[in-house]
Amino acid sequence: MSALPPDRLDRFARHIVLPEVGGAGQARLAGSHVVLVGLGGIGSPALQYLAGAGIGKLTLIDDDRVDASNLQRQTLFSEADLGHLKAERAETWLEAFDPQIAVQAVVIRVDSANAGPLIAGADIVLDGCDNFATRLAVSDACVARGVPLLSAAVGRFQGQVGAFAGHLPDEACYRCFVGDAFDAEDCDTCAEDGMLGAMAGWTGSFAALQAIRVLLAPTGGLGDPQWSQLHLLDGLAPGMRTMRIAKDPECRGCGALAG
Ligand SMILES: [Zn+2]
Repeated sequence: MSALPPDRLDRFARHIVLPEVGGAGQARLAGSHVVLVGLGGIGSPALQYLAGAGIGKLTLIDDDRVDASNLQRQTLFSEADLGHLKAERAETWLEAFDPQIAVQAVVIRVDSANAGPLIAGADIVLDGCDNFATRLAVSDACVARGVPLLSAAVGRFQGQVGAFAGHLPDEACYRCFVGDAFDAEDCDTCAEDGMLGAMAGWTGSFAALQAIRVLLAPTGGLGDPQWSQLHLLDGLAPGMRTMRIAKDPECRGCGALAG
């Protein structure tokens, strides 16, 4: 990794002083490519903290437009963005926030046909989208290409954040966790069930933290990447539980790779 120029050393001084990050870790973040799927309640804070962390390249994928009901939790957007494409407005936000970050906005609904090329070359994919069909397509593409997946979801007062590396012999993929039942189902319960906005913020920013953990894992950083661990965030208690997801040898996504 090459050394950071002086203006970047200033910008990331609070990171670099951390022994867990340091100059080498910050250079690693600057050399990383993160693909964000979904720029909603999770994608908004996740993007803000990943951009703040100096991730060098970000791909922003979403096919939706900003709606007034989004503003309660999707912190990237304001009233001026209503009716505009989320991916394009997020790209505009990012260019203003840090012009040195390379950004690509992609307005597309991710499916099993296009997921592979979209995530090619990524160091990690952070999926905060709103439906299972997309989540499973993203997961299968990650397994096939050997790309780690940070999956995050939220509803009401509950959040879930898990790190998946189904391409590894003993680690689960997202499909091991949820099974095949949701492949064709567009299961967006957010509108029906509701969601406290700050809950999306907690879940999204924790997902960004876990993505950074994965990116820094090769150099020690924040410790192990926590593959196959699902963290359950409870906003009412409040508290957090952690469970381990077992690799399913019969999994359609990663079963052939079982050790
Ligand atoms: Zn699997």
